[in-house]
Amino acid sequence: MPEPPRFGARRSLVALRLSLLAGAAYDVHPYLLINYTGNYESVSTIAHEWGHAMHTYLADRAQPYPTSQYPIFVAEIASTLDEALTSACTRRELS
Ligand SMILES: [Zn+2]
Repeated sequence: MPEPPRFGARRSLVALRLSLLAGAAYDVHPYLLINYTGNYESVSTIAHEWGHAMHTYLADRAQPYPTSQYPIFVAEIASTLDEALTSACTRRELS
């Protein structure tokens, strides 16, 4: 089994949650709790959720609480970009 990616998280994490909690916890660093099974879907999910985490982190840092919230459509841009970058990197590594 390949070594799992490390994003400052533990190797075997239990459940998933992030942006929903991060949105409710202004000025608290984001975190990921996620199931990791070692397959590509797990890696892609981490990339997606990490996009939400970084978006929330940067939104909170750049704006006061009243304007730090964002619609779900905007939230999915960063996470979908992370998925696309992960896919592109994986294809490049495998070619
Ligand atoms: Zn998402």
